[in-house]
Amino acid sequence: MNESRSPLAPGLYLVATPIGNLEDITMRALRVLREVDRIACEDTRQTRKLLDRYGISTPMISSHEHNEAERSRQLLEELRQGARIAVVTDAGTPGISDPGMILARAAIEAGLAVHAIPGASALLAALVASGLDTERFFFAGFLPPRKGERKTALEELARSLAGPTTLVLYEAPHRILETLEDASAVWGPECRIAVARELTKMHEEFLRGPVRTVREELQGRDTVRGEMVLMIEGRPPAAEAACAGGVRERLAELEKAEGLTEKDALKRLARERGVAKSELWRELQREKSRGR
Ligand code: SAM
Repeated sequence: MNESRSPLAPGLYLVATPIGNLEDITMRALRVLREVDRIACEDTRQTRKLLDRYGISTPMISSHEHNEAERSRQLLEELRQGARIAVVTDAGTPGISDPGMILARAAIEAGLAVHAIPGASALLAALVASGLDTERFFFAGFLPPRKGERKTALEELARSLAGPTTLVLYEAPHRILETLEDASAVWGPECRIAVARELTKMHEEFLRGPVRTVREELQGRDTVRGEMVLMIEGRPPAAEAACAGGVRERLAELEKAEGLTEKDALKRLARERGVAKSELWRELQREKSRGR
């Protein structure tokens, strides 16, 4: 473990800050915020609350999505002179659906030191408690706000998947019902999802289950509020087709009615459904392990 107490080295520090609960910040992050020359903030009023809570008085400068490119030039010059600069956003990890990437990239290209100070991010907090597969996931940030474009984006995401993959998306509360409708159209109403709402805050909530029931639950409420992360048990379209109707059941029918071996029945079913035999075989193993 490298627990250095030497003075902070020059360079850019991408510092993760809490996503709700102000206790979710590391001791290292607090030390960095205290010792840097300047903190570049998405919104100085928001960061002020965090700094006040921990008695930190480091000067702040605003750097948000509208001035990041211009501000980066100025901060880069300071970094070249040996400054130590921290970048924070309103919540979570800089650069994840948030400003930070432009400056980090410019500093790397200029051969300057860039350090990540890890901590909270809604994406990982939501994923690990979702109950969905964490082995293989794809983070796609925010979907397009318009209905048609959003559905197309989900269809493209489905096509881009090489196998079952948990999709992690950020979504606004006033769009969640429509997005769930689109997800249901792409992966079917029984597709498993999780919605993580108000993570680390007083009203933290996880809704888990088939997209159909989660949507019904949210639709039944007077209002849907709060920040949320949507996770979907995504599959490529071929795997969707492979699943339709139950592979094990159909194979048993073919074996019984036509006296085929399992291997030949698989070949036949692959032809019937227009999918690869290997895809069907994998789905068969999944069905067997689920006891279907
Ligand atoms: N950089 C941030 C991070 O690392 O999580 C994300 C910033 S992005 C502009 C804001 C979105 O993150 C929100 O609209 C919501 O989808 C998600 N989010 C942030 N805080 C959250 C929380 N406490 N609970 C659920 N979702 C959250």
